[in-house]
Amino acid sequence: MVFILKKDIPAEEINKFRISWEEKGFSTIWAPGTDHDAICLIGNTSAIDMDAVVQTNPIVAYARRVTEQYKAASRLVHSDDTVFTVNGVQIGGNNFTVIAGPCSVETEQQMLSVASAVKSSGAKLLRGGAFKPRSSPYAFQGLGCEGLQLLTEAKRITSLPIVTEIMNQTQIPLFDDVDIIQIGARNMQNFDLLKAVGKTDKPVLLKRGLANTIDELLMSAEYIMNEGNNRIILCERGIRTFETAMRNTLDLAGVALLKQKTHLPVFVDPSHACGIRSLVSPLAKAALAVGADGLIIEVHNDPAHALSDGAQSLNPSQFDALMMQLKQRASSEEKNM
Ligand code: PEP
Ligand code: MN
Repeated sequence: MVFILKKDIPAEEINKFRISWEEKGFSTIWAPGTDHDAICLIGNTSAIDMDAVVQTNPIVAYARRVTEQYKAASRLVHSDDTVFTVNGVQIGGNNFTVIAGPCSVETEQQMLSVASAVKSSGAKLLRGGAFKPRSSPYAFQGLGCEGLQLLTEAKRITSLPIVTEIMNQTQIPLFDDVDIIQIGARNMQNFDLLKAVGKTDKPVLLKRGLANTIDELLMSAEYIMNEGNNRIILCERGIRTFETAMRNTLDLAGVALLKQKTHLPVFVDPSHACGIRSLVSPLAKAALAVGADGLIIEVHNDPAHALSDGAQSLNPSQFDALMMQLKQRASSEEKNM
């Protein structure tokens, strides 16, 4: 961290400022400049509130971080890609992994038919929401525990590992049979939930919030890693912009930037990103092209009658066609799919 000092600060004031940091265990370097002097602080500065330092030290004009506040998630700290296995399925590195399934778990017949269809098209994991975060309290809220049971049954029959969303930390004991805990966009900064899943040994799919920056997403991953859980997939699922023609705006540049900033696997959710079925396939291919490690896609056996997100859900044959195109592209990029 670097503190740029105001003009013409007497040497003794600068020394007092340096000593105050050295007493806290940091090293300091005094860098005189033509107009402004700077003090460089060396040590773990991640817990320092820069704004508070500027406000409480009248000699400081402003402060800048040299490294990011996130450490565990940073590629500067851990340069190799994080690769991990979920129930036999490899995530990250040279793999392009597709998670597919309905937005919501609705019925046994729906789950079993979608699960076997997406499996035969090459999906490696099954998704389905049992607890649904809906904008309206009058909308379908999910089947809850019964939904988890139907997912588990589909897992037993197809042997696809399952991914489903958690709403709060009291639900963790219900997630024993779940292979990846999804933290949805609306909960990306639910810090108590992040800490609680960080204490589990379950991989986490962490979705970017509707109005959160890349750095905030990485800081949320840092919360989970700080509790000892390093098996995290970051997921770009579209953000709110001025554009209203689509449900959200898919930040593909953000995906490429994340791949530079972090070693964690980065997935894309093209379904929630646009909300429009016909755009899911082009966005999925774009995600692969830009370097994503995988996708989470909504697939429904009867999208017209889906209880949630039917307009963005592919039917099994549309999903199958997309998977064939993705496999060709993945193999030309020497990725395992
Ligand atoms: C979902 O995956 O069904 C979901 C609600 O996603 P998001 O949190 O990205 O809106
Ligand atoms: Mn959905």
